[in-house]
Amino acid sequence: MEPSSRAKRITPSLTLSLGSKAKSLRAKGVDIVNLGSGEPDFDTPEFIKAAAMGSLDAGFTKYTPSSGIPELREAIADKLEADNGLSYDPSQITVSCGAKHACLNVLLATLETGDEVIIPAPYWLSYPEMVKIADGEPVIVPTRLENGYKITPEEFAEAMTPKTRMIILNSPGNPTGSVYTREEMEALARVAAEEDILILSDEIYEKILFDGEKHWSVASLDASFYPLTFTVNGFSKAYAMTGWRLGYVASPPWAAAAVEAIQSHSTSNVTSFAQKGALAAYRGPQDCVEAMTQEYQRRRDYLVAQIGSLPKVNFIRPQGTFYLLLEIGDTKLSSTQFAERLLEEEKVMVIPGVAFGDDRTVRLSYATDMDSLQRGVERLAGFLKRL
Ligand SMILES: *Cc1c(COP(=O)(O)O)cnc(C)c1O
Repeated sequence: MEPSSRAKRITPSLTLSLGSKAKSLRAKGVDIVNLGSGEPDFDTPEFIKAAAMGSLDAGFTKYTPSSGIPELREAIADKLEADNGLSYDPSQITVSCGAKHACLNVLLATLETGDEVIIPAPYWLSYPEMVKIADGEPVIVPTRLENGYKITPEEFAEAMTPKTRMIILNSPGNPTGSVYTREEMEALARVAAEEDILILSDEIYEKILFDGEKHWSVASLDASFYPLTFTVNGFSKAYAMTGWRLGYVASPPWAAAAVEAIQSHSTSNVTSFAQKGALAAYRGPQDCVEAMTQEYQRRRDYLVAQIGSLPKVNFIRPQGTFYLLLEIGDTKLSSTQFAERLLEEEKVMVIPGVAFGDDRTVRLSYATDMDSLQRGVERLAGFLKRL
């Protein structure tokens, strides 16, 4: 017997497997500096945990509506209005098991077999695999460091074919730390709107922005973008809630019922008491988000200052997220060779860019404490000097 051809087309998540490798090496006592992490190093804020625990104690342990409890969908609609200038009825919002699950629901609800989905690279590694799960065809469009790793309207238009159904945009972006300006976002969406191409806008890092940068939700920029756009967001990154599995999509009116139907027959609702935590996160004080973001910025500043003077590497200054993408082309190593040697020789974990569709890069995460960051940078410097 064999698994399905669909299953065989999919590559397992490299970041998740490398992450567990780092954890198991550390458990064996190896002094690993982990700059590979794809999640906040902070614990979930107390008031959010208290809300979930309180609801458990109160017996909130049954199925909820598939798309989420009404008060959470309302809180999300209010947030999208207040923060993003987006007007969604709660019925357009589906709360899912993470933003990842929200993306998959959208793809399953919109793609026909063979539909092409344009994905600018370097990309978040799950996009192409999720497109394949939905029987679509990922079309990877490389971007360039000189353009801040942002796809241009010309590059987008050039990648289009009659089979193009969607483009996936992710700003602030993982793994690049790039943030699209309002003008850039609008220009891309115009190209999409002219051809009725859908936009999956993954806004999960919206709150983790530096230097006073501003986030633009593409659906808010023009009335013609709204019916084409799926606005995806979640709680994992901004509120340090990765393990809770809580995200959502706000869909255009024509698609909301389809997204909900798919989820209702696969996972049903997100864990009942986790939804109460999410509700507290959106209705409660927001200073925790600001405090974590300030800390990421402090670390970003440190990393940029230290790495700026290292030989054989290049990078753009991240404007958001907790990643820095290191261009290693001058080392003549592939990203996998670079990451493996750095782990073996210096016990530093980074993620090879081949996982993100760019073999000339590796991703450094600064979702780790300052002390680890300092040791990581020292070891990286030693490694580069020896090359
Ligand atoms: C972490 C991440 C997600 C997924 O977040 P979950 O809500 O934990 O599923 C989605 N998109 C990007 C770009 C991410 O980095």
